[in-house]
Amino acid sequence: MTGPITLDDLPIRDDLRGRSPYGAPQLDVPVRLNTNENSYPLPDVVVEAIAEAVTAELRELNRYPDRDAVALRADLAGYLGHGLTTAQVWAANGSNEIQQQLLQAFAGPGRVALGFTPAYSMHPLLALGTGTRWVDGRRGPDFDLSADDATGQVVEHQPDLVFLCSPNNPTGTALDPAVVRAVLAAAPGMVVVDEAYAEFARPGTASAVRLLSTHPRLVVTRTMSKAFGFAGGRLGYLAAHPAVVDAVQLVRLPYHLSALTQAAARAALAHRDTLLGTVRVIMQQRDRIVAELRRLGLTVADSDANFVLFGVHGLSGGDGVDAGGDQRAVWQALLERGVLVRDVGLAGWLRVTAGTPQETDAFLDAMTELVAGSNFLPGLRAGASTEGIR
Ligand code: PMP
Repeated sequence: MTGPITLDDLPIRDDLRGRSPYGAPQLDVPVRLNTNENSYPLPDVVVEAIAEAVTAELRELNRYPDRDAVALRADLAGYLGHGLTTAQVWAANGSNEIQQQLLQAFAGPGRVALGFTPAYSMHPLLALGTGTRWVDGRRGPDFDLSADDATGQVVEHQPDLVFLCSPNNPTGTALDPAVVRAVLAAAPGMVVVDEAYAEFARPGTASAVRLLSTHPRLVVTRTMSKAFGFAGGRLGYLAAHPAVVDAVQLVRLPYHLSALTQAAARAALAHRDTLLGTVRVIMQQRDRIVAELRRLGLTVADSDANFVLFGVHGLSGGDGVDAGGDQRAVWQALLERGVLVRDVGLAGWLRVTAGTPQETDAFLDAMTELVAGSNFLPGLRAGASTEGIR
């Protein structure tokens, strides 16, 4: 064949035809608040410790790494606490890979996965990639998910795997543990609670980790990408019954976690007090964003994460004309002011990551300007529901 070949010319799987890859824009703008990263670079003491740990591995890169990443899993179990053992923890290149392995082991062709939309956009994409049929479950009008509503949908669809996300991305709010317990009681298969943002939850928020000892079909996934500021290091993990760890070992690639990743992650974990020192500061910025946007009259979801979902109804894209709740116009107007936020494809809503105080200043200044230029009447926004979302 001559000439340019496109995807359509290739014998790609029918179910992948016409699909788009996951793609948060990676734009070079001054204030990047679109992928829920930790805005703080690693401090020197941690950089040095990681450099030393990685250097110690270099001469033996001729050998494969520890296939079972035992030392790292022991460290992660120690970090999670709750009496968890190495056998109950599994690690991979980001929690995305963990969730892919779970779908490979427990779902796949002929099987069904259920999630409650809007939630983390990779869950359906991972289902697609593993040939799993995805069922888009519903939430209430204010993105709430009650135990009754969730179990009703579980009973209806009989999924092999259910994704719960707490704190939920993109809404930010943590799930009531009663919902997790109810879904566990109703689900015929595995229940995966994605707790990527657990470290940012407001005081009193319970992790599903404490349910593990009594629920062998429960899996809690976590990541070092957010609170630990280790997104570039790619380290996610799960906690579950040891039999679940046996199951993912059937599908994982041999030596999937490089010696460099394992060494770097262990060094980062050894400095967890330093790294997690940013969590409190980020939570303060998160709370400040919620309070200030509400003060401006916007509808804002409660957040237990390092990001905030806010309604844009009544705002203009900068020309004074109401954007009609079109989040794309507001996204663009913020970008023109040097602030990159996330359009999660939810009509009338945008998501912003809580970063440094300076980044929050830049975002709030831009938002104040947009509200001022919008003839914006707080409380009279069309289409925005205010109940429950506070
Ligand atoms: N779960 C949720 C809810 C997320 O928001 C993300 C990252 N945006 C992930 C999992 C995946 O993170 P990672 O693969 O970096 O661990």
